[in-house]
Amino acid sequence: MTNKKLTVIGGGLAGTEAAWQAAQQGIDVDLYEMRPVQSTRAHVTDQLAELVCSNSLGSNLPDRASGVLKTEMRTLGSLILDCAEKTAVPAGGALAVDREGFAEVVTERIESHPRIHLHRTEVTEIPDGPTVIASGPLTSKALTDDIQAKITGENLFFYDAISPIVYHDSINMDIAFRASRYQRGEEVAGDYINCPLNKEEYYAFVEALLAAERIDLREFEEDIESGIHSNIHNYFESCLPIEIIASRGVDSLAYGPMRPVGLTDPRTDRRPYAVVQLRQDNLAGSLYNLVGFQTNLRWPEQKRVFQFIPGLETAEYARYGMMHRNTFINSPTLLNATMQTRVREDLYFAGQITGIEGYIGNAASGLIAGLNAGRMLNGQDQVTLPRHTMLGCLCHYITHSDGKTFQPMKANFGIIPPLEVLPEGKKKIGKRERYKLYASRSAEALATYMKDANLDRIVPDEVVLPA
Ligand SMILES: Cc1cc2nc3c(=O)[nH]c(=O)nc-3n(C[C@H](O)[C@H](O)[C@H](O)COP(=O)(O)OP(=O)(O)OC[C@H]3O[C@@H](n4cnc5c(N)ncnc54)[C@H](O)[C@@H]3O)c2cc1C
Repeated sequence: MTNKKLTVIGGGLAGTEAAWQAAQQGIDVDLYEMRPVQSTRAHVTDQLAELVCSNSLGSNLPDRASGVLKTEMRTLGSLILDCAEKTAVPAGGALAVDREGFAEVVTERIESHPRIHLHRTEVTEIPDGPTVIASGPLTSKALTDDIQAKITGENLFFYDAISPIVYHDSINMDIAFRASRYQRGEEVAGDYINCPLNKEEYYAFVEALLAAERIDLREFEEDIESGIHSNIHNYFESCLPIEIIASRGVDSLAYGPMRPVGLTDPRTDRRPYAVVQLRQDNLAGSLYNLVGFQTNLRWPEQKRVFQFIPGLETAEYARYGMMHRNTFINSPTLLNATMQTRVREDLYFAGQITGIEGYIGNAASGLIAGLNAGRMLNGQDQVTLPRHTMLGCLCHYITHSDGKTFQPMKANFGIIPPLEVLPEGKKKIGKRERYKLYASRSAEALATYMKDANLDRIVPDEVVLPA
C-alpha cells in the first residue's frame, strides 16, 4: 500500500484539528508550525493552538449559534472541542478555557499521536502533494507571497475592515426607511435601509462616538490611523474607522459615510442632516450591515454608541465592527464548501485565512478540511455538510458570498436558511423559540447526513494506530 501523506501548515486551532482528523483516518501527517523559531506579532508561547486574545470560545448554550456549532463539532468528534471541555473554567453559559492548560493538552495530544509528525519550521512555499494551509491571520510573509503568486493573485487581503451587522428584525422601521440615493437602482421598496438623523441627533452621536472607548491598536495595526488598503487593488481604499473620521472635524462623517445626499425622509419630507445606510448582507435579508461603519470601538461601546442612531435604538448585532491585520483569501472565488481549492484538488485551506471568524469556527473549518483531505487520500467522497447545520452554513457562506465585497464571518443565525414550517397553529414565533428550532433542525440534518454518507464519528479520545 502506498504511503498516504498529508502536509498541514500551521499548528493553530484549524491546523491541529485538520491534522488530527486526517491522522484519525489512517493518514500520516506532517504538521509544520514555525513557532518558536519564528513567531507572529500576536502569539507569545511555543504551544500549539495558542489562543491569541480572549480565553472564551463563545456560547455553549445549545440554542445559540456558537452553541449549535459546538454540538455539531461534538457529534463529528472534534479534537479542539474535546481539549476545551477538558480544560474548561467556569464562565456561565460560555465555554471558556484555562488558556495555558488548553494549549498544553492540544500540544500533548498532537505530539503523542503516532501518525502526526510535528516540524518546528516555517514553510515558505506551498508544497506539492496533498496539503492543508491553516497558517492563520498572521501567515508569515514568505508563505503569503507564495500563496499570492501561485493561487490567489489579487484575491488575497491583508486587513479586515468590518462594519457591524445587525439583525433586520431588530431595526426600528417606524423610523428607518427604505430608499436608494436619488432612487437609483431602486427596487419596489428601495435597496437600502436608511436611519435619518437631524442636526441635534447627529452631534449627540458624534460626541458619544469620540468619547467612546477604543480597542488598543497593536503595533502592527497603527497604520489604521492613517488609512489602510485592504488589498492590492484597494477595494476598501483608505478605509478609516468612523471614530478617526469624526476626529478630523465634527461634520466629517456628514460629508463622508453618513452623507444624506439624494435621500428624503418620508416622515418629514426633507433631507435628513445625516444618514446611516444599511445594506442587505445575506440572501435571506435577515442581516444588514452599516455601510462604511468600520470601527475600532470596544464591542459594548459599539452597542451603546449606536443606540444614538434613530432606528437602531434596540438593534441586535450579529457581528460588531472591527479593523485588524488579517490575511485572508477571497474564498468565494477560490474554494469549494469542502475547503478544497478549485485550482488544485489536493490543496485545502482552513481557519481564519478562509474568512471564517472566531476560534471555534476556525477549528470547525479545520475539521472539514482534515476530514476531506483524509477522505480524498482514502478514495472516498468529499463531505459537504447540509446547510441546515451551522458548520454547513459557514462553509457555504464563505464560498458563495459576493467575491467583490467578501469580508470574514462568524457563526450566527443570520446565515442559516429560515424555517420552512412553523409549529402547528402558529403564524409567528419569537426569537428564542426560533433558535431552539434551528438547533433541533441542525441536529436532525447532521444525523441524517452522517447516516446517508456512512460518515462515522471520529472518536477524539481513541488514537488510530499505524497499521
Ligand atoms: C490579534 C488577534 C486577536 C484575536 N482575538 C480573537 C478572540 O478573542 N476570539 C476569537 O474567537 N477570535 C479571535 N481572533 C481571530 C481568530 O479566531 C484567531 O486568530 C484564531 O487563532 C485563528 O485560528 P487559525 O488556526 O486560523 O490561526 P492561528 O491560530 O493563528 O494558527 C496559525 C498558525 O500558523 C503558524 N504559521 C503562520 N505562518 C506559518 C508558516 N509559514 N509556516 C509554519 N507555520 C506558520 C502560526 O505561528 C500559528 O501558530 C483574533 C485574531 C487576531 C489576529
